Amino acid sequence: MSLRELRLYRVALPARQQYTMSNSAVSTPFSTVVELIDSDGLRGYGEVCLASPQYQSAHSAGVVASFELLAPAVLGLDPLQHSVVNAAMNASLDGHPEGKAAIDIACWDLAGKALKRHVVDLLGGAATDRILTYHVVGISDADTAAADAVRLQDTGITRIQLKAGGRPIDQDIDAIRAVAGVMRPSTDLAVDTNRGWTSGEAIRVSNACAGLTLSLEQPCATEAELAAIKPHLRHPLIVDENATDLRSIARQITQGTADGFGLKISRLGGLSTMQAVRNLCHSARVPMSSDDAWGGDIIAAAGVALGATLDPALSRGAWIAHPYHQTHYDDTHGPRLENGYVTLPRGGHGLGLVLEDGCFGDPVAVYHR
Ligand SMILES: [Mg+2]
Repeated sequence: MSLRELRLYRVALPARQQYTMSNSAVSTPFSTVVELIDSDGLRGYGEVCLASPQYQSAHSAGVVASFELLAPAVLGLDPLQHSVVNAAMNASLDGHPEGKAAIDIACWDLAGKALKRHVVDLLGGAATDRILTYHVVGISDADTAAADAVRLQDTGITRIQLKAGGRPIDQDIDAIRAVAGVMRPSTDLAVDTNRGWTSGEAIRVSNACAGLTLSLEQPCATEAELAAIKPHLRHPLIVDENATDLRSIARQITQGTADGFGLKISRLGGLSTMQAVRNLCHSARVPMSSDDAWGGDIIAAAGVALGATLDPALSRGAWIAHPYHQTHYDDTHGPRLENGYVTLPRGGHGLGLVLEDGCFGDPVAVYHR
């Protein structure tokens, strides 16, 4: 089998509720969907959706433009040969992991369909079909944040991520204390600053909240700042935005900076690299999540497929954007949040989704072999 055609689609995925981070808010991101068609007529799908212009160092128009080089590099190749496909993409274009991730995911979907297996089987097999997930409490005043945290726990959520940063840290400390005060014994709390504090602010917050059970996720902007503050923190440190590739993750494990990772499939370039990172984290006994920053059913299915293969003792969950927007591609099988878990889609082989012809509209670009 070989890749014969690549089609690109653009789909708006507007947020239906406030989703605020320290440096930005999610409004109406456009998802880029890749449809790969092989020589037997099988179709595989991949997706990437940038959450906001400030969240990651990529522009959504640049993602679309990257396929001008990536598509010719992969057409003609065997989608089962993930290493060959990734090597060809890397040889054609440096960086740009987002577009590469969409192609890589589509190849895994195609491989599953060709082999009549679910992607989770090809990734090593599911440890569970019910994948733990977490929910976000956006930046708001302390009382609103605490009320949100209570409401979420009432729905079965046992992992809460409280956003922080981008305002005076006394307000962050108040919100953290209020939310920590309503945590039930079975609920974990992570405070995610999305790079929003200085190193001094991070240490001050950790000291002010020293008696509270929580972890601090990406409190500062750079890997150097995280390494510098680590010995002074009173809480576990989770690295997200600075987990940029396998090398950086290995370094932060070896140097003892990271107590865990929040990992984004599109930042790492797809499921192939995520599989390698998972094996490293399992070996080093470091917890990780399997997420993306935004997106529809395709990237969600990819995230939960890898998330299902995680050792449950080391899984920080698989976050999906489904609860935060209304545009869904497969209402029957798409990954959905239920009682704090996401169920692995089992609508068919590959990623387990059933996508109707035309559900993405007309392609914005088509590349042929
Ligand atoms: Mg994060």
